[in-house]
Amino acid sequence: MQRITILGATGSIGVSTLDVLARHPERYSVYALSAHSRVEELAAQCERFRPARAVVGSAAAAEQLGALLRAKGLRTEVEYGEQALCAIASAAEVDAVMAAIVGAAGLAPTLAAARAGKKVLLANKEALVMSGQLFMDAVQDSGAVLLPIDSEHNAIFQCLPHGYGRAPEAAGVAKVLLTASGGPFLTRAVETLDAVTPEQACKHPNWVMGRKISVDSATMMNKGLEVIEAHWLFGAPADQIEVVIHPQSVIHSMVSYVDGSVLAQLGNPDMRTPIAHALAWPERIASGVEQLDLTRMGGLQFERPDFERFPCLALAFDALRAGGTAPALLNAANEVAVQAFLDQRIGFRQIDRVIAHVMDAVPHGAASSIAAVMAQDAAARVAAQTYIAGHAK
Ligand code: NDP
Ligand code: MG
Repeated sequence: MQRITILGATGSIGVSTLDVLARHPERYSVYALSAHSRVEELAAQCERFRPARAVVGSAAAAEQLGALLRAKGLRTEVEYGEQALCAIASAAEVDAVMAAIVGAAGLAPTLAAARAGKKVLLANKEALVMSGQLFMDAVQDSGAVLLPIDSEHNAIFQCLPHGYGRAPEAAGVAKVLLTASGGPFLTRAVETLDAVTPEQACKHPNWVMGRKISVDSATMMNKGLEVIEAHWLFGAPADQIEVVIHPQSVIHSMVSYVDGSVLAQLGNPDMRTPIAHALAWPERIASGVEQLDLTRMGGLQFERPDFERFPCLALAFDALRAGGTAPALLNAANEVAVQAFLDQRIGFRQIDRVIAHVMDAVPHGAASSIAAVMAQDAAARVAAQTYIAGHAK
């Protein structure tokens, strides 16, 4: 029996994870769940999965959750705040941690799980983008097992017979091919993009996801963050990572080898497949996802990304090449800009301008410690907010 903590249980990935766990009660039990403010959803999850501990974002939310749980006669211990998140991620009772908090808020608890040598199922790509080498060093030092949930990276992992631990050259890898759907605005006239609404941006053609990653998919910053994520997970330099637009989202990514072989992982676009893969690895378990019916597919298309339509993708490659804390700056500026877009304070095309401004205005340095990374994150947020205040609609 494996005991699982889910950080971000009420989110899109959290809910899909609980769906997979519920199919295998003989294999998994839930040790702890966390949410930020959706207390009623978390209370319902506690009632169904009976965790020992539950963590929320504030004292008020904890009080509300405690009252709801007592009314249901549950004895789940309720806590709040970052330290409590780190505690449920690193507790001795935990075998595996699903890191599914969105954004930089997930860094500390995800890192705590890695430092404690847990099996870390990584959905929270922002944590790895921010802290890159520091995070990978923590995994190495503690002997943690890091498994990617992001569908592309999970696909690449499945296409690397040697898994991690070998330099890409030694494994004969020529290129890592990250597929991208291109999001909802792949073919929309570029000059009309500034008029799009948050609802239009969040309406992804193939995937149902949280709002932040949905906007990231529309700008293709999501793919940019994934390029940086692939760099750290698989040790591939920027030049070895190629983005391929594939609107059907059936091939989740590929690895091409020096002998001309290309390995791909295919499946219906449903996050329960990579979640089940990572949970059970190296075994396989049912996920509830329907088998792919290739005969019902019209055809698979591929094209090169247009970096002018998607400037965020270019900014991410620049940040990866710049190294140090540049990816942390990129990530923080993006988080602030996306929130401003969702709040309708800036237009869609201003997202990349905010990020470009922050990358220019805030000097980046060496990512020598988590404190240095967090200081850059804070500086980038201030610069982004100031820029937005001066350029708001
Ligand atoms: P959601 O917005 O659906 O869920 C986010 C979760 O994090 C919720 O449980 C939320 O709690 C919690 N949360 C939000 N803010 C904070 C905070 N400041 N502190 C602590 N917890 C917080 O996001 P997704 O599930 O879509 O994405 C989660 C992560 O997985 C992201 O990093 C994303 O990039 C990645 N990912 C997601 C995919 C998807 O298909 N959705 C695919 C690949 C990667 P509450 O509900 O209370 O607000
Ligand atoms: Mg992805």
